[in-house]
Amino acid sequence: MFVTILRALLLTACPAAAMFGATLAVEVTAPTALKAPVIGHDVTQIGPDYYTFRYKGIRNVFLVTSEGVIVTDPIQPAAARVLREEIRKITPLPVKYVVYSHEHWDHVSGGQIFKDEGAVFVSHENCLAHFDDLPNPDIVRPDRTFKGPRHDLTLGNHTLRLRYYGRNHGDCLIVMTPEHVNVPFIVDLGTAGGMPLPFIPDYSLHNWVRTLHELEAEPFESYVGGHGIPVAPKSRLTERREYLEALLAETKRELDAGTSLERIPDVVAERLSQRFKHLRNFELWVRDNVRRTITYYSMGW
Ligand SMILES: [Zn+2]
Repeated sequence: MFVTILRALLLTACPAAAMFGATLAVEVTAPTALKAPVIGHDVTQIGPDYYTFRYKGIRNVFLVTSEGVIVTDPIQPAAARVLREEIRKITPLPVKYVVYSHEHWDHVSGGQIFKDEGAVFVSHENCLAHFDDLPNPDIVRPDRTFKGPRHDLTLGNHTLRLRYYGRNHGDCLIVMTPEHVNVPFIVDLGTAGGMPLPFIPDYSLHNWVRTLHELEAEPFESYVGGHGIPVAPKSRLTERREYLEALLAETKRELDAGTSLERIPDVVAERLSQRFKHLRNFELWVRDNVRRTITYYSMGW
């Protein structure tokens, strides 16, 4: 959460206030550090029939419908077992669908327990190539995929909207939003208060920024991320986009200026720290973010 700081405006800056002897206050929003839970597990209800489950540092969402449950990322085998028990506390209905947010193993391992009870596994079509290229015995191959930008998954009285924005974090990531609760599940594109992973190897940097712009333009106020707090304000997506834009711009500036490659990470880290040092792991990871961005400008990836 942002800490709101109230500062009295100087009366001299506002003649009308001086006239009435009033003290005006203006809200100044200061960027703040945000802790992320990483121990144990919990379930948080977000809206009617809509929940988020966290296991250690990773979370998903699930939707309870009149005909069964739609689960998203199973996370890993131990997490999926705990999730199954938690769902049973809420409904005796079976899990009918498991929807993968993208192809990364830290989110989509462990679904076999749901396969065993007959769930149908869903992902964007582009995920299949990754699972086939590097098979993982803990990952259930999707039974059903969709092409293109949109697919609506309806079960009983609820619909989960699946939306694909093209390449960004990998090439098969989908954002999921229940039709009746406008709080999307957005994995890894904008972990609230966090930093991008050190070398962010399969992020397309400009497509990441583009996707965040597109999401910011959509009419929701808060979202569930794949890590961190249960529900984050949309401003945390903006914060991530602004970090990425600054990372790209400052790295490019130093490359254009002919600064040596060895020095660029320190130079850019110092400049970014003025706005972004409150992000978790900033000091630890920012220089690797810069090194990866150097490859973006020098090699095109
Ligand atoms: Zn990922």
